[in-house]
Amino acid sequence: MSKGQLFIVSGPSGSGKDTILKEVLARCPRLEFSISTITRAMRKGEVEGEKYHFITKDKFLRLLEQGEFLEYNEYMGNFYGTPKTPVKKCLESGNDMILEVDVNGAEKVRSQLPDVVSIFIMPPSLEVLKKRLSGRGTETQEAILGRLKTAISEIKRASEFDYIVVNDNLECAVDNLISIIKSERSKRERMYYIIDEVLKDVGSFNW
Ligand code: 5GP
Repeated sequence: MSKGQLFIVSGPSGSGKDTILKEVLARCPRLEFSISTITRAMRKGEVEGEKYHFITKDKFLRLLEQGEFLEYNEYMGNFYGTPKTPVKKCLESGNDMILEVDVNGAEKVRSQLPDVVSIFIMPPSLEVLKKRLSGRGTETQEAILGRLKTAISEIKRASEFDYIVVNDNLECAVDNLISIIKSERSKRERMYYIIDEVLKDVGSFNW
């Protein structure tokens, strides 16, 4: 068994990453999601430990000092970090893992783990993005504007990613992401182990 593959999924808030990932995780065996540790307030409908662990800024800074994060970023006044240990454990077990981080987080992970495969989820237009952000009803007008501005600077950096998936149709976007994961899993470098496994009995093979 080879070590698991790390995937990064980024994209502006409102690009539909969460919905796509939920579907992809339900359909892909041997794929785990990295639960981030964050300091923003819990939104309506969010559940502790599902997508995020919610902690205070003080606790976050303590964990940061202890070197507990693979990467972290400050986004709109809050901290978001990827805990190191679950990623290490997952990859060592041979399962693949998806990190959902912003573009800065993606850059930090890439610089430490160059083998990571990164995917940018692109909204079909700014207009659609604005509609999706407003439609959530969880954010103030000011926060929506802030998220839109951040989105524009993130979209400008989409070329840093290995793949770009446009989310104009949920089903297509999910299929695209699954295809990327499957192709990456079949890459020669990840499949060397199978050569030894298939040929392990060649000495005693009944010709
Ligand atoms: P939201 O507040 O909308 O849940 O997330 C805001 C942004 O933070 C999104 O772009 C999301 O991808 C990003 N994010 C979530 N978890 C992490 C993390 O652990 N690290 C970094 N760098 N960004 C994260």
